[in-house]
Amino acid sequence: MIVMKFGGTSVANAEAIKRTIEIVRSRLDKKPIVVVSALAKVTDALYNISYAAENCNLKEAADIIEKLRIRHFELANELLGDSASLKETLATLKAEFDELQKLVEAVTVLGELTPRIKARIISKGELLSSIVIGQALTESGIATRWLDARRFIITNNEYLQAEPIIPEIEHRTPAEIDSAFSSSCDAVITQGFVGATPEGETTVLGRGGSDYSASLIGMAVSANAIEIWTDVDGVKSADPRRVANTRSISRISFEEAAEMAHFGAKVLHPLTIEPAVMKDIPVFVLNSLNPENSGTEIVNYDAVEDGVKSISFKEGIVLMNIFSPRMINISGFLMKVFDIFAKNKVSVDLISTSEANISLTIDDASSLEAVCSALSEIAEVRVFNDKSQLSIIGKNVVKQRSLINWAVTSLKNTNVYMISQAASSDNISFVIDRNRLDEVLQEFHTYLFEYKSL
Ligand code: ADP
Ligand code: ASP
Ligand code: MG
Repeated sequence: MIVMKFGGTSVANAEAIKRTIEIVRSRLDKKPIVVVSALAKVTDALYNISYAAENCNLKEAADIIEKLRIRHFELANELLGDSASLKETLATLKAEFDELQKLVEAVTVLGELTPRIKARIISKGELLSSIVIGQALTESGIATRWLDARRFIITNNEYLQAEPIIPEIEHRTPAEIDSAFSSSCDAVITQGFVGATPEGETTVLGRGGSDYSASLIGMAVSANAIEIWTDVDGVKSADPRRVANTRSISRISFEEAAEMAHFGAKVLHPLTIEPAVMKDIPVFVLNSLNPENSGTEIVNYDAVEDGVKSISFKEGIVLMNIFSPRMINISGFLMKVFDIFAKNKVSVDLISTSEANISLTIDDASSLEAVCSALSEIAEVRVFNDKSQLSIIGKNVVKQRSLINWAVTSLKNTNVYMISQAASSDNISFVIDRNRLDEVLQEFHTYLFEYKSL
């Protein structure tokens, strides 16, 4: 079996879906489990619907729902033509839209949007896309079984950033998938991003979570491969939307890919690698717009060479300086500080400490106020907004002395607020002002990938 995950751009419209169907057809001998994202931009629209509902703006929510309804109905018409299945597919879509409308009305009446209801709203994108694409696969001659991911992607009840319960997923997924394939189908289709609590309440895995779904399913069925189909020729030396002349990387290790994703590269969800590593399953990142391209293979650490592979960045992060003379010679101070972050569920990226100071970065500032107010009871806190973090990633980059020397010299006209190079041997990170990011990114990329290899 193989898992094939198609992201939003790979299923954006009828043309993209037809391409995707042909890619699935080319893998039928491998028993494909197709995992789909919502059509491009649909999850954003569902977030906007939930904001509008929360603000009791029923008209705006209804307008967006109507646009989504038209888009999915037109897509079904385009893909299914006048086939016998069109009517039934439209009825299934209609039922999903009716439920969405009811959820939104309930939110506006109550004036309150709970995470539980929000998860039900934003999970609709994948449910809708999988209904249309599943039927289009079948109509194209690939007998396809539609499975509801909520039957086997079991998570805790952090509804919007749900954590998978691995033993439950491992227990339930093979039974569901095996029974589908034993009913003489060619392929299975299910939703990325979507899961459910053990009690059956809908949850989602966090933005970009369809990659993670694919990897969890791959792990649970011990798949032969996990293919992440997206809109670029695999993992690249930097984000091609921000940097000119990027190159595709043919092989990268699980560790390097995880580090890249964790430090900002959107091409993979940061948790995608973990389940695949557990079962030693190769992961490929491929381009649905250019299926002939061999993309990137993600392999074991020992199988890749040392050296810089990629530059990642995070933009608009927050730098915090926490100062306390009490820190000097007193044990347990760091614990108190990090306990505050943990209680507020804020994850810290980079940290550096000196005698009486802790500098750290966070990229989700939504609980910043609560964190600062708790910290201010034990320390002086200063917050600096609009910073960026840029990370050079590759096996053992930290050991390349010339690299760090070059980077520091080339940053002589840029304020550098933090350098982190010891935590992992595969990553050197710099915190700089946001308005310097683009220039520095391009300069680093040109030097590291075009002029010379260090
Ligand atoms: P999908 O909808 O298929 O999941 P995403 O938009 O989530 O696609 O991820 C693909 C995008 O990731 C690319 O279009 C590219 O702009 C971006 N990206 C960021 N960093 C990288 C990188 N190092 N290599 C490739 N793509 C990257
Ligand atoms: N549709 C979800 C999102 O846009 C999940 C995904 O595409 O991976 O975040
Ligand atoms: Mg993605």
